[in-house]
Amino acid sequence: MIADRYRIEPGTAVNLSRWDPADHTLAPEGKEAARKISKKLNRRLAELQQLLYAQGRHKILMVLQAMDTGGKDGAIGKVFRGVNPQGVKVTGFKKPTTRELAHDYLWRVHAHTPGMGEIAVFNRSHYEDVLVVRVHNLVPAELWSRRYDQINGFERTLAEEGTTILKFYLHISKEEQKRRLQARIDEPDKNWKFARGDLAERALWDDYMEAFEAVLSRTSTVHAPWYVVPADAKWYRDLVILDVLTGTLERLQMRYPEPEDRIGEIIVE
Ligand code: ATP
Ligand code: MG
Repeated sequence: MIADRYRIEPGTAVNLSRWDPADHTLAPEGKEAARKISKKLNRRLAELQQLLYAQGRHKILMVLQAMDTGGKDGAIGKVFRGVNPQGVKVTGFKKPTTRELAHDYLWRVHAHTPGMGEIAVFNRSHYEDVLVVRVHNLVPAELWSRRYDQINGFERTLAEEGTTILKFYLHISKEEQKRRLQARIDEPDKNWKFARGDLAERALWDDYMEAFEAVLSRTSTVHAPWYVVPADAKWYRDLVILDVLTGTLERLQMRYPEPEDRIGEIIVE
């Protein structure tokens, strides 16, 4: 996979100021050429998903995290365009309900992990419990600081039970977020996406970067690697995700199940 360069090797201390959100090294010819490649990868993804479903022997979990306006929704729409919606389950994790808060933070997450033949996409995830929760001290530090190891343990369990896990952090710059938030104010058909609260979160940008660095440094593992996706350019973001996703599915070397015995002799009347 060409996008391997964006994978965080386990045990690396990540400094996000060294990762360029506008990088497009893998697409030196620019947007149009990249879009052509993405289109092909997207068609291949549709085939691979059908194979995954037909074979029913693998489970795929894709986690998406980003700052507000980072492009999680847009990426899901683009990457899975043309893929059979029956085989892809997207779950968005918002502020926990009272009932969810009454349980441990992984309780609401586990139920949405993929079954055999499925691709589950998490739009936000259990990582919120060491991101927004850490930044706002929603639980004491003694509690959230233990969660990195707990999350690694949880993901190891999923992996050992047959789940292939991919985690993407969509990396945008603070300036790009400013442009995107302003567009949500200026363009009427984007107004619905604007929440005043996003401005308060933006003011905590540095705290969030620190929290993301802790996540990337402590929870990128062999069985559940993080990818830092340069996301200022949407076309590049989609290309990188598609490359990692299709590349990972190709490596599973899936085959259609064996047909029934002597199927060639059957004639349908
Ligand atoms: P998004 O911003 O993901 O596109 P949205 O705009 O539709 O979705 P929001 O209400 O802005 O919806 O996003 C969900 C909010 O829920 C985020 O602010 C996120 O930090 C918060 N959230 C998610 N999980 C948790 C959690 N475990 N604890 C506290 N807050 C959480
Ligand atoms: Mg939002």
